[in-house]
Amino acid sequence: MPVIPFSEALAQVQQYALRLSPTEPELVSLLDALGRALAEDLVADRNFPPFPRSTRDGYALRSQDVAHVPAQVRWVGELKAGASLAQSSVKLQPGEAVEIMTGAPVPSGADAVVMVEYTEKSGDAVTIKRSVAAGENVVGAGSEARKGDVMVARGSRVNHAIVAVAAAVGRADVAAHRRPRVAVLATGDELVDINFAPGPNEIRNSNSYSLAAQVHQAGGEAMILPVARDDAEDLQVLIRKGAECDLLLLSGGVSMGKYDLVEQALEKMGAQFFFDGVLIQPGKPLVFGEVKAAQKTTPFFGLPGNPVSTMVTFQLFARPVLDALAGARQQAPLFAQAQLRSEFKVKPGLTRFLPGRLNGSHQQPQVEMLKWHGSGDLTALAGANCYIVVPPDKEQLQMRESVTVLPF
Ligand code: AMP
Ligand code: MG
Repeated sequence: MPVIPFSEALAQVQQYALRLSPTEPELVSLLDALGRALAEDLVADRNFPPFPRSTRDGYALRSQDVAHVPAQVRWVGELKAGASLAQSSVKLQPGEAVEIMTGAPVPSGADAVVMVEYTEKSGDAVTIKRSVAAGENVVGAGSEARKGDVMVARGSRVNHAIVAVAAAVGRADVAAHRRPRVAVLATGDELVDINFAPGPNEIRNSNSYSLAAQVHQAGGEAMILPVARDDAEDLQVLIRKGAECDLLLLSGGVSMGKYDLVEQALEKMGAQFFFDGVLIQPGKPLVFGEVKAAQKTTPFFGLPGNPVSTMVTFQLFARPVLDALAGARQQAPLFAQAQLRSEFKVKPGLTRFLPGRLNGSHQQPQVEMLKWHGSGDLTALAGANCYIVVPPDKEQLQMRESVTVLPF
């Protein structure tokens, strides 16, 4: 099977994701929906704002009365946020002003609010020192959303801003898709679980945990399976178990070594492969396909075992599939631009994802390339907050050059 370029692999994964059916919806309490995809639209149950809202503390008045300043208007009362309907039902007459607070309803007859900073009050007389245009410092009733409007569409992943909308329309419970169950299967004879002391040539299984963390952050539910030995039989038993989930993620055993038996085990089970290598570094031996087990077809990724490769390939490829299963409108990885704070050389031919740290200021985001010892270097990645993306035709990256980054 050919090893394909990064953009082709990503496009294939995204195409595949479009064909997947999302998990079923369930009614969950608002904060339990955080990180899940909405299975319903959030609809405005009233106008937003429900009344013309003052955005400033000051005086509500007729803008034409203060076209020429300084101007004097007459204080006729006060309105604060939460004022009763009786209080806000006053009708302002020419030459009058109501003292008003942020969030209070602007009374009829008034068309603008002058900020208190530009006024002076003495008894009932208010001197206005600055003109306002009609509509200034007032948000009209229904201007953000009208009753019945869709404020957030289904398929949106619930974040703090969407929680705010749901709360504002009075939804203590919302319909969200079930968290997809993702089986996590690490492979390798050298691996021991974190609860055991490793022998001199053994290493602790970290991939199952980093993957479970990434799955959790992506709104899924991880099922960590026991580590599979580098043995085709053992692998098949555990793959069959993992295929009961919505998605199966394997790590390790996909390179060219004699004991890299993951593909072989999957092949024996009649799996279909879409690709088994991508021109990226780290993560080149990535395998993607689907396997039938227990009357169900389950997508799988055979992620390379080196810890950084496992993390990168999850973010780039497994994440879009997980998003689709979760009912989220399809998401491509989110790239950004930053100015490089170092210079370095790479061999061309592969799209590279190198550990970086984004910093700098709001005027100029900067990214620093971190020292690392290759795709097994967990420590380097723990200090990173993004990957610097180097296109395959690039050999030399210059100081202060603009580069693409993939934050995580
Ligand atoms: P493999 O892809 O199986 O050839 O493994 C590549 C490298 O990643 C080897 O050095 C493995 O020991 C290491 N590795 C594989 N699986 C894990 C794991 N679950 N946790 C930590 N390191 C791993
Ligand atoms: Mg291995």
